[in-house]
Amino acid sequence: MHTPLCGHASGAPEEYVQHAIAVGLKEIGFSDHAPLLAYQDPGIAMDIAQLPLYHQMIETMRAKYADQITVRVGVEADFLPGFEDGTRQMLAAYPYDYVIGSVHFIAKWGFDDPIQLTEWDQKDVNEVYREYFKLVRQSALTGLFDILGHIDLVKKFNFHPTEDMTDEIQANAEAFRTARVVIEINSSGLHKPAGEIYPALDHLKVYRAHGVPITFGSDAHKPVQVGRDFAKARDWALAAGYSEYVMFEKRRIVRTVKL
Ligand SMILES: [Zn+2]
Ligand SMILES: [Zn+2]
Repeated sequence: MHTPLCGHASGAPEEYVQHAIAVGLKEIGFSDHAPLLAYQDPGIAMDIAQLPLYHQMIETMRAKYADQITVRVGVEADFLPGFEDGTRQMLAAYPYDYVIGSVHFIAKWGFDDPIQLTEWDQKDVNEVYREYFKLVRQSALTGLFDILGHIDLVKKFNFHPTEDMTDEIQANAEAFRTARVVIEINSSGLHKPAGEIYPALDHLKVYRAHGVPITFGSDAHKPVQVGRDFAKARDWALAAGYSEYVMFEKRRIVRTVKL
């Protein structure tokens, strides 16, 4: 779940919490876009100076709704090669229940940014996919992240490779297992041009075969999106062979829950 601090989400944190309660969720976490250390863009991510407010807002919600829902504090941090040390320092500055690691950039290209959509026309889609999957693999192995977010975000605008990517997915599954990271089943892809949950079902089956645990995210950028399509996300997990998902507190898996 995001907050308006990232510059492209709307609704007060309290509205997100209230919607979560209304749809019957028992535990949620905020995970707004962490400050981008390589780029400055108030429309994409929080600024370093906003982090105290971010934590204060969530703490207020956590305390106010403690008897109705568990509210966790997370963050979605970009994997930016070359900025690992800065990212580590940024993440160590505050207590988090979980850190989601995401790849939104290939070099300086924000491949999932609608404003940069035309750049796809100049690219070799197969190469873009291979570069993307390699970055996701590298992000897992940094040890910076607990959960990897939307791990086939590269499909967002419905550009698909003509080459078989099985080798990339196998390599990623092995890296995830080695790095002991958890992957996110993210329902927001259903509402993007790709029209499909992240990650694809055939990928998820490979991750399942490698014993990579899952969490669920709706990637809400508006209060009404909290928990959206979670029934479909659950079915997706079951179809891939999963029988449980995990919950985080203080950057550790504290519970495993039956699907
Ligand atoms: Zn966002
Ligand atoms: Zn993201």
